[in-house]
Amino acid sequence: MDHQKTARILVAGSGPAGLIAALGFAEAGFAVTLAGPAANGQDGRTTALMNPALKVLERLGVLAELKPKAAPLKVMRIVDATRRLVRSPTVTFRATEIGEEQFGLNLPNNVLVPALARAVAAHAGIEWRKSMVESWRLDAAHAHAVLADGS
Ligand SMILES: Cc1cc2nc3c(=O)[nH]c(=O)nc-3n(C[C@H](O)[C@H](O)[C@H](O)COP(=O)(O)OP(=O)(O)OC[C@H]3O[C@@H](n4cnc5c(N)ncnc54)[C@H](O)[C@@H]3O)c2cc1C
Repeated sequence: MDHQKTARILVAGSGPAGLIAALGFAEAGFAVTLAGPAANGQDGRTTALMNPALKVLERLGVLAELKPKAAPLKVMRIVDATRRLVRSPTVTFRATEIGEEQFGLNLPNNVLVPALARAVAAHAGIEWRKSMVESWRLDAAHAHAVLADGS
């Protein structure tokens, strides 16, 4: 089992959440193994990240390149989509009401994920195994994961 790995942190999943978690733990000084496939460029989703999350991306050094490709979230509208006879009125909040230019940014996953993936690839503290986790178990002191590549 020469390919069996021991790492302080194992992150399973290579979408925005997993990539950000891996970067965050690595920046905090932990040795990280990230498990999950590379993006295939077919992700048609977007992810809305609020200002506190953007501060995390800024700290991780990826925000500047994302900003030009993101849509600012300036207005938030809460709509009662029930079919009740008496519905709550629609409420609109503007970021300017709380002295902010925007609540956050909406980012295409096809922009966000490659930028995060580049940061992960460049980070010496992260080993990225581009393989699915097939099974895992936790005991008191360890997490054990078996990857699809057999490691
Ligand atoms: C049509 C659509 C529109 C959306 N629009 C918005 C929007 O406007 N605003 C918004 O905020 N959100 C939106 N979302 C949601 C947003 O895109 C997702 O919440 C976001 O991508 C979730 O990121 P994630 O990292 O948690 O998961 P994902 O992006 O789903 O990533 C999961 C990753 O884990 C990997 N994985 C899965 N199983 C394993 C395993 N066993 N081992 C290792 N890796 C594994 C997958 O391959 C994938 O890379 C939308 C979603 C959809 C479907």
